[in-house]
Amino acid sequence: MSNDELAPVRQNTSSDMSTVTAEDEVVDICRALVRIDSQNYGDGSGPGEREAAELVMRLLDEVGITAEYIETAPRRASVIARIPGKDPSRPALVLHGHLDVVPAIADEWSVPPFAAEVRDDMIWGRGTVDMKDMDAMILAIVREFARTGVQPSRDVILAFFADEEAGGPMGAQFIVDNHADLFDGATEAISEVGGFSVAVAGQRVYLLQTAEKSLAWLNLVTRGAAGHGSQDATENVIVDLADALTRIGRHRWPQRLTPTVRRLLQGVADLLGVTFNPDDPEQVTELISALGPAKRFVGASVRTTTNPTRLNAGYKDNVIPSRAQATLDARFLPGSVDEDMAQLARLAGPQVEIETIHADVAVEAPWEAPVVDSMIAALHRHDPGAPVLPYMLSAGTDNKSLSRLGIQGYGFVPLQLPEDLDFTGLFHGVDERVPIAALQFGVRVLRDLLQDC
Ligand SMILES: [Zn+2]
Repeated sequence: MSNDELAPVRQNTSSDMSTVTAEDEVVDICRALVRIDSQNYGDGSGPGEREAAELVMRLLDEVGITAEYIETAPRRASVIARIPGKDPSRPALVLHGHLDVVPAIADEWSVPPFAAEVRDDMIWGRGTVDMKDMDAMILAIVREFARTGVQPSRDVILAFFADEEAGGPMGAQFIVDNHADLFDGATEAISEVGGFSVAVAGQRVYLLQTAEKSLAWLNLVTRGAAGHGSQDATENVIVDLADALTRIGRHRWPQRLTPTVRRLLQGVADLLGVTFNPDDPEQVTELISALGPAKRFVGASVRTTTNPTRLNAGYKDNVIPSRAQATLDARFLPGSVDEDMAQLARLAGPQVEIETIHADVAVEAPWEAPVVDSMIAALHRHDPGAPVLPYMLSAGTDNKSLSRLGIQGYGFVPLQLPEDLDFTGLFHGVDERVPIAALQFGVRVLRDLLQDC
């Protein structure tokens, strides 16, 4: 994108680029990225990330930042760049976002999902919160740094990944497996689904994502002899599978609080002025409810979940089939994957074979860490005294892939949000949108963080 392409939507009309700030540019860059359709259907049929990655390359190249363009398959593009810090002896920080978005069905939306319209001081469109907003913040800041000669405090590795929405086999997973050297010396990573504000007991609180549950998509299969549907059958693979699914689906996994969730709930209890009792499941549920809509992300972080999501058996009305199959979406807490898998096998019973379709690790990064102190300090410079609490995401991000290189991942896209915006409902939702003021707030916080972390 040339300066001319940015110009029509730029408020600062000066032709002298040195006066353009990241706050000006972030809006234009976010809109430009949203206008590029990079829908990921998970089966390789989408448009891919090529045009989005090419825009990222141009925006970096314009300010003299050399980046590596990687296509893991035709059109499945990621971009990696390293920006030297003031102190090259310190470990590097990875700052990453993904370039793909989940599909949007235009008929359901009140605006065209790829038009990046501005209405009510917000940018509307697929990707505005997940996560072209962060991509734009990162780009706007590093472009400003390059123009004004500012260096981050330590080396920063920028990564704009393909395929996050399908777990990253064409993006972060592949690049970690095949180009691990690009992340040499990195110890921490900052990316999505954290850093946003929520209201708790009338107070603005920021949630910082420090942990992610693991995921396992599992096939459950029963096999037996096929037979005539008219017979008094004693064996039926559908009944066996239905029994197993009922046991699994109705099983209430025990509540267990990891360090992240314990600290979150302690913080919420403090804000509500109640004494936290981690052994009281009812109080735990109440504390989660106090987080309002954010409980969508937090509610499943106190226990393992195993939800049946598909069911498939039979091929004719009068034939008892020889095979029945169901799919489970299982999300395990960090530290209990093996134990819970064993329990799952017991619930399924001996007749059921369990096959793994796709699995990925749980991660939990420390709260007592200098980079967390830096994130909180940067937030407090722009929202003094606001409480910051950790939370565990029940879904996953590319931080899982980076964790295989020993990199501790955090979710920190700082957004100061209006209290009445149901933000967590916008992820993968209809009418996804981000307030422009929140984007610009995020730029100010991240800009400070990169200079002092
Ligand atoms: Zn995302």
